[in-house]
Amino acid sequence: MIKAKAGFAIVLTMVLALAGVGFTASAQQAGPIQVLNQSVTSNYPNSLNFHLEAQSTAGDITSIRLSVRFGVEGSFLSNRIEDFTPGQLVVLDYEHDTFDVTLPPFVPVDYRWQIVDSAGNTLETDTYHTEYVDNTRAWNRLENEYVAVYWYGYDLAFGSAILSIASDAYLRLERFFGVSLEFKPRVLVFSSRDDFSVYHAGGEEDPNIGGQYYRGLGVTANIIEPGDPRGWWDKLIPHELSHLFSDSYYSGFSALPSWLEEGLATYNELINRDQNLYLVQHAAATGEIIPMIDLERTIYDDDVNISILSYAESSTIIRFIAERWGEPGLQAFLAAFRESSDVDSNMRAVLGVDMTTFELMWRAWLGYPVESVPTLIPTPTFIIRPSPTPWSPAPGAAVTPTPIPTPTSSFMGGGSKQ
Ligand SMILES: [Zn+2]
Repeated sequence: MIKAKAGFAIVLTMVLALAGVGFTASAQQAGPIQVLNQSVTSNYPNSLNFHLEAQSTAGDITSIRLSVRFGVEGSFLSNRIEDFTPGQLVVLDYEHDTFDVTLPPFVPVDYRWQIVDSAGNTLETDTYHTEYVDNTRAWNRLENEYVAVYWYGYDLAFGSAILSIASDAYLRLERFFGVSLEFKPRVLVFSSRDDFSVYHAGGEEDPNIGGQYYRGLGVTANIIEPGDPRGWWDKLIPHELSHLFSDSYYSGFSALPSWLEEGLATYNELINRDQNLYLVQHAAATGEIIPMIDLERTIYDDDVNISILSYAESSTIIRFIAERWGEPGLQAFLAAFRESSDVDSNMRAVLGVDMTTFELMWRAWLGYPVESVPTLIPTPTFIIRPSPTPWSPAPGAAVTPTPIPTPTSSFMGGGSKQ
């Protein structure tokens, strides 16, 4: 259940007020190169525009680099600014294109300037902090010590309810994963699919996507349209936050296979466990159940019913582990994926059974035992994060410091969002 949190410091802000925040350098005034003024303006969803005024008392400014990082972790992307006239005083405007990348609003942005003059002096500024603001809508923000919620088109009671759901999930997931986040997650709620699609590089988004998490950006995006039932809020918000915590839990190049990652996020919705169990039991009874070795292929199937069943199956697999081996067993199983992505070897090492034996046990636990399951040895899934998904509008960004996120998505039911 979602409990109201008492005593939180709640701040309501019109986010518009954050646009175009200007900074004046102060820490680096001592040397021959000085930043006289600099600022950032968001032109969501097309660009983030940087303005710089700098001068050198020792020679002409000949080289300027801007290093930018979108999100809460990862490398800075360095851009050499070519379009300015060298001189002792330089004024430049640099438009960082965001149109061709999937970049949700309110992602934190860190950046710094490197300025070089003809006398060989270099100024490296401190890192400035801003965010990629959406000025096209009247966004509101509510936050407490755990999360910040951004929404528009609904009243304050709606925002308070989302904050309560998100905070409750935050505390539960923090305990579950045993990690403390070094940032405050930003939970964005879009009131229409069109608004949600605006910032996606591919344009129109898959109509079956209800929310997305973006690796490393510290943001979850959620679609709650007018008339959506409260149960949808309770499902969606924790689901995407589970992905966010999982991203911190699996640092570096480790990760769960997609089918287990989605199963875990679905399990962590908390509210739908019995509903998912019934769905899987029904599939087992009718022979429609998807074998475990196929789940990595079907988890993002174009057929939304197959995908939903895959999510549900994986969530019951997580639940079965928790019930059969206890919470410590589940924790140990999840921890094993920090070292290896091979499901069979992790099951052998932690649960004491191979994948085939496990699947037979799971089928029996569902109440529909079978004597055999498909035993094709699955190709080991060596997942390089971020793992690509069928919806990914751009290549994975694991090896280059680009702001392109790879979405992890949650489905909503075929039009009814049960
Ligand atoms: Zn998901």
